[in-house]
Parts: sequence; C-alpha cells; structure tokens
Amino acid sequence: MAKPQEYYDHIKAKFAEERDLRLGYRPEGTRQFTSELNGGLASYAVDPYAGEQTSREPIEDTVECLFIGGGFSALLTSARLREKGVESIRIVERGGDVGGTWYWNRYPGAACDVVAYDYLPLLDELDYVPKDHYAKGPEIFAHCQSIAEKYDLYKLAVFQTTVTSTVWHAEEGLWHISTDRGDTMKARFVICANGTLSKPKLAKIHGIESFQGHSFHTSRWDYAYTGNDLSKLRDKVVGIIGTGATAVQAVPQLAAAAKQLYVFQRTPSSIDVRDDWPTDPNWARKLAPGWQAKRRARALTARELTPEQQAAQAKLSREEKIQSQENANIDYMMRIHTRIDSIVQDQATADALKPWYMFMCKRPCFHNDYLPAYNRPNVELVDTHGQGINEITAQGPVFADKQYAVDLLIYATGFEVQKTGIYNQIIGESGLDLNDKYSTGMRTLLGIHTSGYPNLFIMGGYQASFQFNLTDMLQTQGDHIAACIAYAREQGYQTIDPTPEAEAWWVQEVIDHRGKTGRNQECTPGYYNFEGEEQRRQDGNYNGGFRQYFTHMAEVREKMGDNFVFTQKVASTTDG
Ligand SMILES: Cc1cc2nc3c(=O)[nH]c(=O)nc-3n(C[C@H](O)[C@H](O)[C@H](O)COP(=O)(O)OP(=O)(O)OC[C@H]3O[C@@H](n4cnc5c(N)ncnc54)[C@H](O)[C@@H]3O)c2cc1C
Repeated sequence: MAKPQEYYDHIKAKFAEERDLRLGYRPEGTRQFTSELNGGLASYAVDPYAGEQTSREPIEDTVECLFIGGGFSALLTSARLREKGVESIRIVERGGDVGGTWYWNRYPGAACDVVAYDYLPLLDELDYVPKDHYAKGPEIFAHCQSIAEKYDLYKLAVFQTTVTSTVWHAEEGLWHISTDRGDTMKARFVICANGTLSKPKLAKIHGIESFQGHSFHTSRWDYAYTGNDLSKLRDKVVGIIGTGATAVQAVPQLAAAAKQLYVFQRTPSSIDVRDDWPTDPNWARKLAPGWQAKRRARALTARELTPEQQAAQAKLSREEKIQSQENANIDYMMRIHTRIDSIVQDQATADALKPWYMFMCKRPCFHNDYLPAYNRPNVELVDTHGQGINEITAQGPVFADKQYAVDLLIYATGFEVQKTGIYNQIIGESGLDLNDKYSTGMRTLLGIHTSGYPNLFIMGGYQASFQFNLTDMLQTQGDHIAACIAYAREQGYQTIDPTPEAEAWWVQEVIDHRGKTGRNQECTPGYYNFEGEEQRRQDGNYNGGFRQYFTHMAEVREKMGDNFVFTQKVASTTDG
C-alpha cells in the first residue's frame, strides 16, 4: 500500500537533522583531514609492500607517452595505444608495481563491489574470465600485472618513483617530468593517471602522534604485525577508526581474528546483500570472443529509458519526478534499516548502525558478514553519533571520557578526493600552474583536456561523468585519449590542445548538468559531497549521464579541427 507523503517528509526531516548535527561538529569540511603525511605522520605513507628501494641512476631520456600512475587508467590507455602502434610508453609509479588501488589496498577482505565481468577490464584481450562473480583484491592486482605483461609495459616502467613536477617546453614540444629520484624525463604526451582515491588521508585527531601502540592506514597494511592470516592478532586488542567501504570489508576478518575489536563510527554506511559465487565453468566455456565488449555495449544502452518509461516520465512535473525518485530512495534506505534489525541482535547497536541519509549520499556498501560481526562477544561498536573521535592518547582513542586502550589502531579513514586529477605541479604553455588556472573554477574539455596544456590528458578527474563501475568510465576515457594521440601522430601534428571555445562549451555543459535535485547539498557530509563544503558549480562531475558523456566524446572526435588547435611537428627525438 502506498505510504502517505507525510511518512517520507518525516524521514527527510530526520535526514536533515542528522546532516546538520555532523556539519555542526565539523564545519571545516575536507580540512578535517590531512593527506600531508610527513613529520610524525610519515610512517603512515611508507609502502610496506615494495621492500628496500633499489638505487638507480637518474633517468634523462625521452619517451612518446608517459603516464603518471600505474593503475587501471594507465593500463587501459596503454593497451589502446599499443593497439594503435605506439611503442614508447612509460609508466611512472609511486608504488613498487602496477595496479594502483589494487597494489595499495591489500587489507584483509579487499574486494570490488562491481560484478567482476564488468569491472575487470580487457577480459576479451587477455582471454580471461574472473574466478568469482565479485573479484577479490589479489585477483584484480594479478590482472593488472597480466595487462602490463601482455602489453609489454614493464620494459620502460619506473617504480618507487613519484612525479614532482611536469613542465611544458614549447620550443621542444615536450613535457619535462621531474621526480623524487632526481629524474628529468621528457615526454611528448603526458597522461595524468594518478587516481581519484590514491592519497591516504588521516582525520586530524588531537594526540594522534602520541599513541604508543602499533598503527597503520588500511592502504598500508602491516602483515608483519598482524600475520598474513591475522593469527598474530589472537591476543591483541584492535581498534579501527572509520566505517566506510574499507572498514566494512575488513571488520569481519578482524572480528574473527582479534581478541577484542572496537569499531569507532561517526556515520554508518548503508550495507546491502552481497551474493557471491564462483564463476560457472560451463558459462565461461561458452563465452564467445568479444563477449565483454558486447556486455559493456549492452550495459550502456540498458541505462536508457524505454519509450514507455519516457512517456510516463514526460507526464510528470519536475517536482513530481524529484518527489517520486526521493520516495523510492527512502523506501530503499528503510529496507536497509529492516535488514539491520533482522541481523543485529543488540537493539542499541542495530539502531546505531542505521544510516539516516539518501542512498548514494555516501559510497554504498555490500557485505553479508559485516552486520553479523556485531553479534560476536569480542566486537563493540563505539558509536560517536556523528561526532567522530577527537582525542587519542598513548593508550588509544578516547570518546565520551572513556579511554579505549588498544594494541593496534587501524585508520580506515579513506583517501583525499582528488578534484582535478593532478597532484604534482603542472606548468603549461604560459607558465601557469594548472592549480592556479583552476583557482577560479575548473576548466576542461570532457574533464580530460585543458586549454594551454598541450598533449596533456587527465583521467578520472572532475568534469567527467561518474560511474559506479569506474573502469567503464576509465575505459571510455582511455579509448578517447588513444584516439586523440593516434590522430595527432597520423596527421603529423606535434601538439593537440583544446580550443578555448570547446572548453567554454564543456564548462557550461557541466554547469547545466549538475543534477536535478539539491540532494548533494542535502546529503550527510562525506567524500561524495566534499564533507558538505560549498562547491563552485563547475567543480564536480558531469551529471548528464554516462551515455551522453560517451556521445559527446565521439562528437568531439568527429570534429577534431573545430575542437582542438594543432601545431606542426618540431624536430625532437624519442628514445626508449
Ligand atoms: C579501497 C578501494 C575500493 C574500491 N572499490 C571500487 C569498486 O568496487 N568499484 C569501482 O568501480 N571502483 C572502486 N574503487 C575505485 C578505484 O580506484 C578505481 O576503480 C580504479 O582502480 C582507479 O584506477 P586509476 O588508475 O584511475 O587510479 P589508481 O588505481 O588510484 O592508481 C593511481 C596510481 O597513481 C600513483 N600516483 C599518484 N600520484 C603519483 C605521482 N605524483 N607520481 C607517481 N605515481 C603517482 C598512485 O600511487 C596510484 O598507484 C575503489 C578504490 C579504493 C581505494
């Protein structure tokens, strides 16, 4: 039976109350975190997986394409570039191998929340079928390594190396790339593939450096301390700060392994069912070549409304459409609440685990073992009701005047959300730092190109479409970038740079498609809405839909001459 509108209005009012509570505690927005992990915090950034840094001479050669970062963005685009005949490709990566997210995030339980046959890219090309319906971290990491091997990307790759600056030299038609290893590499094309969630962040908690026990960030898991199977935690009291997507995956394993586990929560995640199963070998055997490409193409059109749905939508006013979407969203979130009540035995804990916000305000989570973990006698949820932990002593966190003494403190506090796809200094044609260009608002074409920065491409940044399956989006961007580079090479052009007009068009498209409701502002603070910070209207995703984004990309490429300025080839060498 349909519920009265007052039911939904009442829940919306509670959503607003919970959001305001959190904004009141942390009005400083994203500044409540730090990702500058140096000084007393430097140990939280150390790579525990790469081993000793091997010494090498500084590199001063020239390559055709250089990727900053070695995750899926770099791998996908490199594969396409290889298919187009580009031989000279270098990946420069802070970590000790390719993989990006899946190199760094090796915490117990790490897995992807998107169906493996959709998330893992280049399955046709590698003739690989994932082992399970949902891929686990090690399988994804191994897949990244297989891509690098297949496309011969290890040959020129440089690991344990962080790019510190990228400067355009017009007279040479080359970028100069400096690193923390004293390199001055040159490249004709630079692709910023440095990830949207790759810089670990910590909450600025008073006393963090005074803690005397062991501690690490989830993306730097110390297996030497925990044991590979976590068996060394048997006699340890463990605390984990944060209840986002990472903690949801790690908590069940910690709960089973530790003597005692405290989970410190500010805002609960929404946890839905995760049904997983091994891939059916009979199904896998019957897959015809090109099956993943067809699956992706089908998914793209499946997102479109049928003519009947479009006709039904057309009859509704804008307000009615918003209301019906919001009511459906609230119904979903109330099902999440009912699920918690049916699993978690202690009523106070169950109530504390209930998320009071619209679906997709925070990164949605899917897990079958997270909620049952709270039924174990050795697990305690420390719910701070929006406040968060504000103090850590030598013994551990303090909340509401209670000291929680722990042996191990794990920070599941996530990553800096990268607004622009850039971290290092990027100096363009006129000597302007890209961060300074963006200081009055982001300006890009498709979130990929930005005028005045020739031959520079940005992946996974803002002003691009958002997809829950990020590799769908990255694949689209990689295909586009490879096509642009191939076009410039075929035509004998040295540089490709978007026209200011094309850039202005796209900025306006982004502004015109900021989304149909005020939900972002109405959401509880989290990384999806920059912790509630006010944003300039163009500093976000393009929300016109993935299919539309994809179509715009193709249109831009159809009219290369209108959308880009090209310059003729200058004499330069490419070693490598
Ligand atoms: C824990 C976790 C779970 C996730 N789960 C999902 C999921 O379920 N579904 C989904 O679609 N997406 C998920 N994601 C998002 C995931 O990041 C993307 O799917 C994808 O892997 C991003 O690839 P990328 O290459 O763009 O970035 P990354 O994988 O982040 O790679 C970027 C690399 O750049 C390197 N780098 C950065 N700056 C520099 C520099 N200056 N010099 C040298 N190297 C640099 C970093 O070390 C990093 O290795 C998850 C992310 C995290 C953190």
